[in-house]
Amino acid sequence: MNLVIRNSLLVICACLLFGDGVRAQAPAPVTAIRAGRLLDPEAGRILTNQIILVEGTRIRDVGPNLAIPPGAQVIDLSAMTVMPGLVEAHNHLALTYKPVPENNVYYYTYVQESTALRAIQAASNGIQMLASGFTIVRDMGNNALYADTALRQAIEQGWIPGPTIINSGIIIGGMGGQFFPTPEMVTDHNIVYPEYLDADTADEIVKAIRQNVLFGAKVIKICVDCKPYGYTADEIRLVIREAAKSGMKVEGHVQTQNGARNAIEAGIWSIAHSGALTDEFHKLMAQKGIFRAGTETPPGLEGHPVSAQAYERTVAGLKNAFANKVPLTFSTDADYWVPGKTRGELCMEFLKTWIDAAIPNADTLRAMTINGYKLSETETTRGPIKAGFFADIIALPGNPLDDLNALKNVQFVMKDGMVFKKDGVMTPAAFFHGGPVNGWRIR
Ligand SMILES: [Zn+2]
Repeated sequence: MNLVIRNSLLVICACLLFGDGVRAQAPAPVTAIRAGRLLDPEAGRILTNQIILVEGTRIRDVGPNLAIPPGAQVIDLSAMTVMPGLVEAHNHLALTYKPVPENNVYYYTYVQESTALRAIQAASNGIQMLASGFTIVRDMGNNALYADTALRQAIEQGWIPGPTIINSGIIIGGMGGQFFPTPEMVTDHNIVYPEYLDADTADEIVKAIRQNVLFGAKVIKICVDCKPYGYTADEIRLVIREAAKSGMKVEGHVQTQNGARNAIEAGIWSIAHSGALTDEFHKLMAQKGIFRAGTETPPGLEGHPVSAQAYERTVAGLKNAFANKVPLTFSTDADYWVPGKTRGELCMEFLKTWIDAAIPNADTLRAMTINGYKLSETETTRGPIKAGFFADIIALPGNPLDDLNALKNVQFVMKDGMVFKKDGVMTPAAFFHGGPVNGWRIR
């Protein structure tokens, strides 16, 4: 091989590995949004007649008297309340158990549906979430063999529209996860995997976290106490230390008082589910700044009955958490289908619990935005409508500070500066590409 050919090959290889260098970029298009009312959830107030300038994927400026640059596309939302995108802190986009055929038992869903099918469901569910105004979704496991990572990559690389996904990979727990398999279902082939990743010893815990990191998780999720031999505070500290090496936080599924005590003592980032959270634990969570993703299921969802007593406890728990100033986030644990509702509409039904708990609307909105951004660790790049931030913007006719249910009528959604929904109709064409336009290296 002569030197010229060899050098050309080296250049080709270098291009494959490191990209093709600086290319002349066309100037990013500018969009001007006229916002009749602009909701600032941090301050809990509305500003009127604002203009938001969006350049490319980001917000360039926001204010009352901005000059609209010539040639800018103008979007008139002067009759709407414009606000930053919403965060759903606990969802399972690649799991949809159903009344038929599995009678809402997800063991059967898991046996019946391949990772590939569930990844396509996740793509659809993600689009349904975005259409309801959720621009960030934390996807917290039960997603077969990393369908959640595939979803995140597909959205980030630019194949399909969807929310920003903060995904956990496989839920890590003591032997069995949340399943109760028969011996024959474990000894020949461990049926628990890949729905759960068993990690019973310190070595196994470290290895399980590294597996999730390697395969694209952005947060680590553990079963603190799904089994009587759940994790001790020391074991949870080990999880937190190992996750931190890769820059990740840890969410704990907690269902017992012992589990709650261990998770809080270890200083976990967030606790999922609220059944075990007492006044004492709420006080400790507030002291330590531990986020609560309470997954407060309301009654009235077809096929998912909640008893009056259980709901009373849920509402009282949310009230208590608010009174104790626990950092609250909006979360649903949605992993099922309610006929007639999209995944996004299903999540919006959970507003009922917040209304029944008499949480002030401004604080529920903070839970759905500001606290959600902090929980997701996007608060310096994505969320608030501020110059330099990614342009994730929604709009609706009513005013959710007066009536939270106004959130059920999101008419406009912009994600990363591109219009996804306008006048109540999804217009996602700009999001679809025949290749990874944002870069194939996004893992
Ligand atoms: Zn869950």
